[in-house]
Amino acid sequence: MTDLCENEIYAKKIALIEVGRRCFETGLQNNSGGNLSVRLACAPAIIIKPSGVGFNECSVDNLMVSDLDGRTLRGAGKPSKDLDFHVELYRIRSDVEAIVHVHSPWATGWACAGMQLDCITVQARQKLGLLPLIPLSENGGPQGATEVGAVMANPAINAALMENHGTIGVGKDLRQAVYVVELIEETAHIAFVKSALNSFGCCAD
Ligand SMILES: [Zn+2]
Repeated sequence: MTDLCENEIYAKKIALIEVGRRCFETGLQNNSGGNLSVRLACAPAIIIKPSGVGFNECSVDNLMVSDLDGRTLRGAGKPSKDLDFHVELYRIRSDVEAIVHVHSPWATGWACAGMQLDCITVQARQKLGLLPLIPLSENGGPQGATEVGAVMANPAINAALMENHGTIGVGKDLRQAVYVVELIEETAHIAFVKSALNSFGCCAD
């Protein structure tokens, strides 16, 4: 890769490390679950967190570079099991430059209940829009490229819940993608409080 590419890889690794730390510190992702990635402009490739590395443990040395077929170009780690749906989204959505996938607790609670999370606040309505629930794979396992691709091929969809699993946000950069998962989590929390208050009969629905 060219010097220009080296500069871009370094800068985007730093951006990814910062977003990973932010997700960890704000409780959106504990331990080594979830994943985040960013597209390179200088080559048909992405930077992605490897499997078994926490969001707060990402470093310039352990982040991996993969091509859009999921082949490792750089990095000694084990490719994430989420790699297939990340590369699928970059292949089918030319507008997607970054992906953040987390198991944030409030939103994942809704996803485990199999419930539609309505965008009840004005912010969520404006910025999330549609918020579909991506079903589990046919064999009941975690969502892969087929399930995520089928729902998120629609360019109007930048945010989704993943049944029994978590959430996913995409954007034109990592900052925008992390805003999406933060807003999904905030919306799930607010929706839970609203439903609890409504169940007490103290408020108009
Ligand atoms: Zn996950």
